[in-house]
Amino acid sequence: MSNDTHGTCGSCDHFGEGVPQQQLVQIRMNPEAGAEVMSRCAAPRNAEIHLSVGPKSGCDAWTPAA
Ligand code: SF4
Repeated sequence: MSNDTHGTCGSCDHFGEGVPQQQLVQIRMNPEAGAEVMSRCAAPRNAEIHLSVGPKSGCDAWTPAA
């Protein structure tokens, strides 16, 4: 089932592996700030296929970053 209210990877708790903390904070405030950054998605369903995503990507497993 689709969730039309989810955000993008840049504001997702599963995004950020390998991204410096300061840059990750900037991306969470503004996904455009790191449009070129790629990170492996840590959501279990995506991690097993080693999915890499950018801040403006998204999926139904989106979980708001703490
Ligand atoms: S692919 Fe989905 S679960 Fe992974 S970081 Fe993006 S929105 Fe989150």
